[in-house]
Amino acid sequence: MLYNPSIETLPLAKLRQLQSERLRALVNRLYEKVPFYRQQFTVAGLMPGDIKGIEDLRRLPFTRKADLRDNYPYGMFATPMEEVRRIHASSGTTGKPTVVGYNQHDLGVFNEVVARSLVAAGARPGMRLHNAYGYGLFTGGLGMHGGATRLGMAVIPVSGGMTDRQLTILQDFSPEVICCTPSYAQTLAAECAKRGIDPATLSTRYAVLGAEPWTEAIRQQVEAGLQVSATNIYGLSEIMGPGVSQEDVDEKGTGSYIWEDHFFPEVVDRETGQPLPYGEEGVLVFTTLTKQTFPLLRYWTNDICSLHYDPNGKRTHIKMAAIKGRADDMLIIRGVNLFYTQVEEVIEQMDFLVPNYRLIVTREGTMDQVEVQVEVAPGLDAANPDLAAALSQKIKNTIGLSMKISLQAPGSIPGSEGGKLSRVEDRR
Ligand code: ADP
Repeated sequence: MLYNPSIETLPLAKLRQLQSERLRALVNRLYEKVPFYRQQFTVAGLMPGDIKGIEDLRRLPFTRKADLRDNYPYGMFATPMEEVRRIHASSGTTGKPTVVGYNQHDLGVFNEVVARSLVAAGARPGMRLHNAYGYGLFTGGLGMHGGATRLGMAVIPVSGGMTDRQLTILQDFSPEVICCTPSYAQTLAAECAKRGIDPATLSTRYAVLGAEPWTEAIRQQVEAGLQVSATNIYGLSEIMGPGVSQEDVDEKGTGSYIWEDHFFPEVVDRETGQPLPYGEEGVLVFTTLTKQTFPLLRYWTNDICSLHYDPNGKRTHIKMAAIKGRADDMLIIRGVNLFYTQVEEVIEQMDFLVPNYRLIVTREGTMDQVEVQVEVAPGLDAANPDLAAALSQKIKNTIGLSMKISLQAPGSIPGSEGGKLSRVEDRR
């Protein structure tokens, strides 16, 4: 089942036509309504009429997080405040939060893309959704809630945290679908194991996980620990919230569909800003083609990934690979660039480890040191030096860095208590 088959399988030429029409309308609106954009156009020597189609997008300047901060809180809104029906803010993971707004039309689009995403993840009308994303300023909770309601699901608005209660609800309310951060899904799986709850007795079949980077290692752990099929959902408040892209449950590991009739993606070179060919890794940039209250042109997300079309996919829309990390979370260790997800990928290959881990970065003199703290699988001895040596060697061979390895007993590394988990402690 697809939620909106005609649009999700729209032939590419038609999709481009639709995107071009929408972009032309957007540019006109921004020029007229948002002083920031009018000035951006003037500086670039452009008039709205110069943008004839999606192929002209690259002539436009980027919008960056700093621009949103400079126009805090409402300077980027393109509709009168009386029209605004909801205000959210980014989680503030990196600095001061940015404020975003939605009118009724925008909330309709939000519901639509989340409904499409839930269907792609395996959810169906009539199922129950255990929504463990945080409700509040964070877009996760209410975003998933609205889309699930639109789809015709019964939403259980649990929100994040209070793990005891989450487990009771999972057992007693029999939801077929759960959504939360991947790190919190790890916590829930670990708690089930600790309390002797057999995941086979739970009704949960699908998990929709996002809001932070994760890899196959966590997928395997969560799928086994909760007996679900887990897919990736991606989004950011500036562009909409969750549901900008979603992995299909039958196409796991091949990337997440970006709903490109609403969000036009580009991947650009981090240094030069030049658009990169499909398959190459760079910074993800989005243009919101249909949003009315808080539309953005070429928004520099800072998330690192690549784009590709999948000829074997059920849909025609473009896919994005899993996010490696945020550009500003990239660690530079003795001249080598490092995302923590690279360590997670190595952990996946070591069957004596589970992906409960964190990295501690320190500086001794002028030397940066990374300590990898990671749990061994249940029943194994964390003090066994052969295990640490094997991990150390594997990291050296794949990442090219020597790291200090500190294996830990199962259950000893703190996990997510409900939301996003910070896996790096940079003490430099
Ligand atoms: P904040 O930027 O303050 O965390 P948001 O809650 O809007 O605010 O978070 C959006 C960010 O979360 C994205 O830009 C991205 O870095 C991260 N993110 C969201 N979903 C995913 C995902 N599925 N995989 C990796 N990272 C994700």
